[in-house]
This record gives sequence, C-alpha cells and structure tokens, in this order.
Amino acid sequence: MDWYNPSDTDIPKGHFIDGQFMSFNDDTAVDVICPSTGKAYAQLNYASADTVEQALSQAHQAFRAGTWASMAPRERAKYLFKWAELIEKEQAYLAQLESLGSSRPYHEVLQWDIPYVVDCLRFFAELSDKHGGYVGATQQNRLGMVISQPYGVIGAITPWNFPMSMLMWKVGPALAAGNAVVLKPSEMTPFTSVYLAKLAVDAGIPANLFNVVQGDGKTVGQAICEHSLVGKVTFTGSTATGAAIMSTCAIKGPKPSTLELGGKSPQIVFADADIEKTARTVAKAITGNAGQVCVSGSRLIIHQDIAEEFSQQVMAHFSQLKTGSTWEKQTTLPPVISAGQAQRIESIVSQSIAQGAELLCGGDLISQGGSFFTPTLLAVKDKANCAVREEIFGPVLTMQTFDSDEQAWELASHETYGLAAGIHTQNIQRALTGMREIEAGSVWINRYGRSFDHIMPTGGFKQSGIGKDVGVEAFQANLKTKSVLIDF
Ligand code: ADP
Repeated sequence: MDWYNPSDTDIPKGHFIDGQFMSFNDDTAVDVICPSTGKAYAQLNYASADTVEQALSQAHQAFRAGTWASMAPRERAKYLFKWAELIEKEQAYLAQLESLGSSRPYHEVLQWDIPYVVDCLRFFAELSDKHGGYVGATQQNRLGMVISQPYGVIGAITPWNFPMSMLMWKVGPALAAGNAVVLKPSEMTPFTSVYLAKLAVDAGIPANLFNVVQGDGKTVGQAICEHSLVGKVTFTGSTATGAAIMSTCAIKGPKPSTLELGGKSPQIVFADADIEKTARTVAKAITGNAGQVCVSGSRLIIHQDIAEEFSQQVMAHFSQLKTGSTWEKQTTLPPVISAGQAQRIESIVSQSIAQGAELLCGGDLISQGGSFFTPTLLAVKDKANCAVREEIFGPVLTMQTFDSDEQAWELASHETYGLAAGIHTQNIQRALTGMREIEAGSVWINRYGRSFDHIMPTGGFKQSGIGKDVGVEAFQANLKTKSVLIDF
C-alpha cells in the first residue's frame, strides 16, 4: 500500500526570485534523482553567475527598501504566523514533495517534519519583538545604547537530510530579525524550498525578501558565500564543506558565518539504565532517517556487564525495520540519499572490519532501485578504528565497552567531533558528572534526539560547528549590535 502515487506529484520548476518561479537560458539543466528509485524524476536548473547576482540584488533591494526591516517587529511576526498557517494548510503536498525527493518517509514528514518546521517558525516569529538591545552603564553625562540591527542579506546553504527543517532553522530567525535571505538548498533535494518560498509570498511577505537559487555547492554555493552583498552566511552540512565555506568567507570577506557541522555522537549506557527502553532509544537514534542525521547516536559506549544482553535487544530492533520507498506505508528504513553515499558507507564498514572490528549484524548494501543499507552493529576495541573516527552518515553503530565511569567519559570524548551525546543511567550523580565532562553542544540524559523545545539551542563543539541554530541564540545570531553614545 502506498501513501501516494509518486508520478502524480507536481514538481516546482526553477529558482524562486522576486516572488516568481524562474529559470534562465544560461542556467544548466541537471537530472535530479529520486533516492527511493535511483532514477531521475525531474530536472534542475543550476543558476549561472548572472542568476545568483539577480537573486542577491533582489534581496538587497528588499532589505534597502526597508519595508521589512523597519516594520514594527510585531507586524513582521504576523506575516510569519500567516506563513506558518499556509505551510500547515499545504502540508499534504509539501510532505509528498519532500518524501519523493529525499529519504524522509511521507508519514514521518507529516508527523514530525511539518509540525517541527511550523513550530520553529512560530518560535522565531514570537521572538521578533523580544530583543531590542540595552542601555550601557556609561559616565553620568552620557547615554550609551547598544542597539541591534539585521545584517542585511543572509546567505543560507542547507543540506539534503531534512530539507524543510534545515531551511527553517536558517530562514525563520533571519526573517524574524529583519533580514532578507538568499538560500541555496542541496542540489539533491531542491524542490520543497522553492515551494516554501512561494508560500512566504502568499502570506504577504515582500516578494523579493526570501529568494531561492538552485545549484551545486562549488559554484552557486560559493558565489553566494563570497558575494559582497551577503552580510552573513549560515550553513548546515559536513565539516569539510563548513571549513571551505569559512575560508571563502575569510578570503573574500571577511564575513561571519554560523556553521552546524558533522558529528560522531556517543550514547553511553550504564549498567543501571532501563535496558528495554534504552535499547529502543539507541536503535532509533542510529536508524532514524537511515542514520543520515548530524546528531545520529553512532557510538554505543556500554558497561561490559550488560553489553551482551543490550546488544541483542538493539539488534532485535534493527531486524524489525523494513526497507522501502518513502511513499510505501510499511517503510521504516528509508533509502540512503544516493548510490555513491551507500557505497561510501559500505566501504567504511569493510575497512573497519579489516581493521579488527567484529561485525555483529548488518553490513549489507541492498540495491533495489534505491540504495538501502542494513542496520549494522560493529564491536570495536580500538579507538582508532575508522568506524569510530569517521562520520558515516548511515545506520552503522559501533559498540565499545567500559568497566569504570572514568573509562566511559574517556571513550565518549571524540578527537574531532562534539555535537551531541546521550547518557543513560538512573544515577543522578553520574548523569550530572557526564553532563559536565562531555565536550558536546547537546547532552541528552535518559533520552536521545532533538525535541520541539525550540528554546534549546543546538550546535557543536570542536569541529562540529561554530554558533547555534534554534533558541534565542540563533535569533540573536541574525543581528549585529551597534554602540551609540550621546553626550548631554
Ligand atoms: P554532502 O557532501 O552530504 O552533500 P555538504 O556539506 O557538502 O554535504 O553539502 C551541504 C550543502 O553545502 C549543499 O547545499 C551543497 O551544495 C553546499 N556546498 C557544498 N560545497 C560548497 C562550497 N564549497 N561552498 C558553498 N556551499 C557548498
């Protein structure tokens, strides 16, 4: 049984600039592949340099026109609320478009992604009039004010794993703070973003305020990052690309950037944890979206006394998952985004085994139109094993055992990444020690994963990122402060 018929889905064409779907003669057309079938389902126009220029200049004009930036913030919020309402209204179509083009199963998009996107937008809309700056404690004969102002045009670059949610992480706070935006979604999942931009215009947001250009990272993405009209760049994606973007921003700017990058997050399970519940949590945290989540809990660090029983339970959960297209009702393990990515996962798993890891289950690449990877558990003794060191971005869990708390914290610490961590224990002392000990931007105790508590900022330590998405911090990151001194 299918949720919908993929061939009935209307695909929006082109870029979205100045309130219109657009494509131009000098834009290159490229096939877009459906991850569930491995086949092309649409074509995408990669923007030429002129198209990028046009989008940026429209955004710049929108900002300079002042309609949005100088509108009373509460008024701005009303348009954003209206946009949220329209997204909810069109959720069935958006869910279809998102699941057709990405690895997100249709029902999950409806149950999770859409409510998350809408809630996140409302959260930032509510912040619009809550942060105006402050008065400084200056000399008595002066008034010192620290006021905040939008950057102007924000350049946003987003990945393919949660296309709509990642868009809203960037565009929600940018618009709420009074900026204009030029967004480039991933070339692998390009279509929901232009439709969301159209809904923004339908909601009454100025037509040229939020523009979307399509294209690859190395030309179109880079052209946005290096452009002098862009005041700040915000990005979610791999650590290597984040570093490339930061260097573009430095060489051609310098301009600031917020970067949410890769992870290799531990899930630490102590012997006193609720084994049944925790095994379910651990299994879900590495198989959700087929492990293609920056905060995937990809390293199980477990007390040696419960490792055997616990791993059996995790594998039992793995074995219940069913591969299938994102529009099939029975699918619980969606496709890997591309054949190339699936091969990369397979290659790291083989390398890891060659380096001494023991394969406890999975390890199979299944090509049935789309590419699927069976949930995999690798018992690893050596911290230097490639499956422990590298972000795999697939349903591959490594397992390392410990026999003391100190050893658990030591194993949890990763040489490169510090995005998130899970601690599972009934002992509050131990949980709070771990909370302080672990170098990660998010620590989850007796749970795992992000929630709808948008007040909680998210972002990484070490090479997992710079700055925060979501939370008040993400809103403030879209504003720059100005000091004003007035002599009496
Ligand atoms: P992946 O390798 O999984 O596609 P990336 O982190 O490379 O993930 O891509 C995330 C986003 O960054 C995509 O929209 C991509 O097009 C864009 N991108 C890739 N390289 C660059 C670059 N050098 N400059 C700007 N954007 C880029």
